This record gives sequence, C-alpha cells and structure tokens, in this order.
Amino acid sequence: MSKASEWLREERRKTLGDWVAFCMYCGFVQRYFDEFEDELPATCRQCGGEFRARCPGCDARFSSAFAVECEACGAQLRPREQFGVPIRRAGK
Ligand SMILES: [Zn+2]
Ligand SMILES: [Zn+2]
Repeated sequence: MSKASEWLREERRKTLGDWVAFCMYCGFVQRYFDEFEDELPATCRQCGGEFRARCPGCDARFSSAFAVECEACGAQLRPREQFGVPIRRAGK
C-alpha cells in the first residue's frame, strides 16, 4: 500500500471518522466511534424502536446521518418519508 493512500485513509478517518446509527422508527441519530460500537443501544432511547447501525444486506456501517441507501450495496436502510414532514401531510 502506498503512502498516499495511507494518508488519504487517515484523512477520511479524521473527517468522517465516526459512524452513525439511527432509529428505524423515529429517525433519532447517534454518532459513534469504532471502539464504542459494542455500547450502542439495541433500541432507540427516544421511542424504543429498532436501532440500526449496520446495513441489513451487507453489514456495512454508515458514515452519513442522512443515508437512505447503503453506500456499499444500495439496499434501502430506512423509509425516505422520515426526512422532514411526512409527504402526505406536506401539501397542506
Ligand atoms: Zn426512535
Ligand atoms: Zn449494504
């Protein structure tokens, strides 16, 4: 492995270094670092919904709090309607 790609990886770790887990139900987001993954709650601390830290399809982790699809395999991670006002009610 070249020095340049080592450096790039290190830069990536610093800027996007933490990972994201989120609630499937209410959208609550929690960022975490590698070493604390084991301490992530299994359920949302706000609503008790399923807390997801890895893609159900390929087990990849998420680096963006706004990820809707898995960066690695494209699987849908959560419903899009979770962002902002639910689509049905937005019109009024
Ligand atoms: Zn929740
Ligand atoms: Zn995936």
